[in-house]
Amino acid sequence: MAKTAISYGRQTIDLSDIEAVARSLEGMLTQGPLVEAFEAEIAGYTGAKYAVVCSNGTAALHLAMKAAGLGEGQKAVTSPITFLASANAALYAGARPDFADIEADGMNLDPESLRRKAAKDRAVKAVVPVHFAGTPCRMEEIREVALKYGLIVIEDACHALGAEWTDSSGRVRRVGSCSHSDMTIFSFHPVKSITTGEGGAITTNDPALYGKLKTLRSHGVVKDPARLSKSEGPWYYEMQDLGFNYRLPDINCALGISQLKKLDRFIAKRAGIAALYDRLFSKYQFVRPPSVPGGMRSAWHLYPARIPFSELGVERKDLFRLMSEIGIGLQVHYIPVHTQPYYKAMGFKPGDFPRALRFYAEEVSLPIYPLLSDEEAGAVAEGLLSSLACLSAQAKRTVAV
Ligand SMILES: *Cc1c(COP(=O)(O)O)cnc(C)c1O
Repeated sequence: MAKTAISYGRQTIDLSDIEAVARSLEGMLTQGPLVEAFEAEIAGYTGAKYAVVCSNGTAALHLAMKAAGLGEGQKAVTSPITFLASANAALYAGARPDFADIEADGMNLDPESLRRKAAKDRAVKAVVPVHFAGTPCRMEEIREVALKYGLIVIEDACHALGAEWTDSSGRVRRVGSCSHSDMTIFSFHPVKSITTGEGGAITTNDPALYGKLKTLRSHGVVKDPARLSKSEGPWYYEMQDLGFNYRLPDINCALGISQLKKLDRFIAKRAGIAALYDRLFSKYQFVRPPSVPGGMRSAWHLYPARIPFSELGVERKDLFRLMSEIGIGLQVHYIPVHTQPYYKAMGFKPGDFPRALRFYAEEVSLPIYPLLSDEEAGAVAEGLLSSLACLSAQAKRTVAV
């Protein structure tokens, strides 16, 4: 089988990134000035008052759950169409994950399903809306439900650094500003909007949460004299909570600062590829492009096309095989979390969230990243259309025979 040359996502690293990292190696390596410098850049970009960087997006979710005080006997609701970590974080904090189905006409957590869940189950204390593929959730409606039922809102914006939406008064909101949430978390894994190798961040406007996040990130240790119960000398510190080592080194922060400067260009490139795919698929009704509601700027982390495989009589794995033979890697985002064996053992049934199941059955993520050329994107679209035509013709012949 031919080597897959085009994958669904990858990083964009240039000489300025390499030089920034090289320079950082002459500094403190970890917990030097670049940590706060990167945090200031993230806060500045998103418009939040505070940013705390940490070792990855999963750690960011864990820290956010702990800082929010979520724990035993409480539940955090997220979308079944997400990466495992959005749900697992509740378990790390000693709470229970739960789910609400996705929108009938979209890919994100449905505010109405969330409302029904929160009304029925008073253990629900947090919601983790995931801006799937980089398209913002309906945050005003989610915030309304959260206020009514007293839920903490932790946005999982691992796909959505740089995304924006317009509120009902016409004001443009940037994801991460926490205008409608308590905290927003990000990942800087290589496939995300920008990368630090591994890395993550939490933004918030709440000074108390900010203080907790910083303490929990580093063993729950406090050194600030104003927060100590006493002082025994210059060496003195206190462990006031059970924290972790979730710190992000200076080396990674150097890369993050350099990458963030290019974020808007990266997103413009991704949006250009999405527009090209949209155009190339517009004549074919069996490939349904993702739709982004008006007033929103998607970060275009993914290009999740929907293909009605069962109607076409085509097996998705056959499409993956044909595309891989011409060097194109596809992906599926995501296997609904509640159908994983671990979650099934917790009592979830596949049919609990039927829209998520249907979405999973039809979803295919096409390659999208800033370095993907228009020619390559054209080859992806052409390969996809011809593979589908070939497979569905085969299926018809098989039925005829
Ligand atoms: C990538 C991702 C995470 C986890 O981030 P890591 O940095 O890989 O730990 C969490 N949620 C979503 C939706 C993601 O895409």
